[in-house]
Amino acid sequence: MLPNKKGKFGIFGGKFAPETLIEPLEELENSYKKISKTKEFRKKLNYLLNEYAGRPTPLYYAENFSKYVGFKVYLKREDLAFTGAHKINNTLGQVLLAKMMEKKRIIAETGAGQHGVATATSCALLNMECVIYMGEIDVERQKLNVYRMKLLGAKIISVSSGSKTLKDAINEAMRDWITNFKTTHYVIGSVVGPHPYPMIVRNFQSIIGKETKKQIMKKEKKLPDYLIACVGGGSNSIGLFYPFYKNKEVKFIGVEGGGLGINTDKHSATLSKGEKGILHGSFSYILQDNYGQIKETHSISAGLDYPGVGPEHAFYKETKRAEYFAVDDKTALKGFHILSELEGIIPALESSHAIGWLIENKERFKKDDIVVVCLSGRGDKDVMEVAKIEGEI
Ligand SMILES: *Cc1c(COP(=O)(O)O)cnc(C)c1O
Repeated sequence: MLPNKKGKFGIFGGKFAPETLIEPLEELENSYKKISKTKEFRKKLNYLLNEYAGRPTPLYYAENFSKYVGFKVYLKREDLAFTGAHKINNTLGQVLLAKMMEKKRIIAETGAGQHGVATATSCALLNMECVIYMGEIDVERQKLNVYRMKLLGAKIISVSSGSKTLKDAINEAMRDWITNFKTTHYVIGSVVGPHPYPMIVRNFQSIIGKETKKQIMKKEKKLPDYLIACVGGGSNSIGLFYPFYKNKEVKFIGVEGGGLGINTDKHSATLSKGEKGILHGSFSYILQDNYGQIKETHSISAGLDYPGVGPEHAFYKETKRAEYFAVDDKTALKGFHILSELEGIIPALESSHAIGWLIENKERFKKDDIVVVCLSGRGDKDVMEVAKIEGEI
């Protein structure tokens, strides 16, 4: 199964890292291979996922929404996982792994703060020192999550280099890791970065697809026709898709942040509009200008606002295993409202992109199609932002 020994998904992925990063990456790969297979690790992680994080999450038949679009829609309720999104699946896995590697200190990057909060939560639980790198602009924009992380015992380092946002926070975290890897593990928050990260994060997030498979077989006695999920770095989507990879009859659809429209320069539709290139140690699609510099991105949802995407998605796109579309901010807002009104579920703005795409494209589907949408997170974090945009406050 992919990736191969070099961490390649076809031509994508790999380990385009400076010499000094190769040693910690190899140590991580070897430890992951050894530790993740042990009974002790599996038992502990299962316990944490089930008893602490509230798994398995429901696969909920959204009857009202199904009537509205005209076919059967199930929601995989990652919004009900502890801390309100799928990110906890990965952070519990990685922090537990680090602990069993006898590391004492955890570092992570965060943009909006969702991955930072999930990491700080896992560190509080597993008694690890926690340092979160965050762009200066994001620290200002996301005060509530900054305070949350502090409450959980994490230290926040504000990054003032470059564009002072997520990609610069990743650069700083990598620098820290190179210096301190003997004691420190770097928890990356999505299926990006150099090998083995895209593989490790995918494997931890695959719990989403594995549960979905069991649940849909129980409810429908057959596999779904479509799996749909939003794509930022690509972890909730690959987590849903991967366990169905060999089930060719199950179609995969990824939805990116179309921002103000993919023909403007304010979007984060990496697979739809990007080119092949290298970012953060991995060969994939990226948004770059004519000089190869990384472009500034925009999305109404912070979680989709990233100029790169996981290499496994680039591979799925190239081999046509999955299709990728972009949805603009306005359509995402429509999805946000309609799901709230019809089901009483306020989705995260990220997840609202998948919902919005489904609404806009409902004519593509047949009446007896079964569609599973990954509801990657809950929308409470976005309510203030939406109210401001819509002039309610
Ligand atoms: C971070 C986040 C995303 C985007 O990240 P992926 O790695 O693409 O899953 C999507 N939804 C929510 C709720 C998030 O917090």
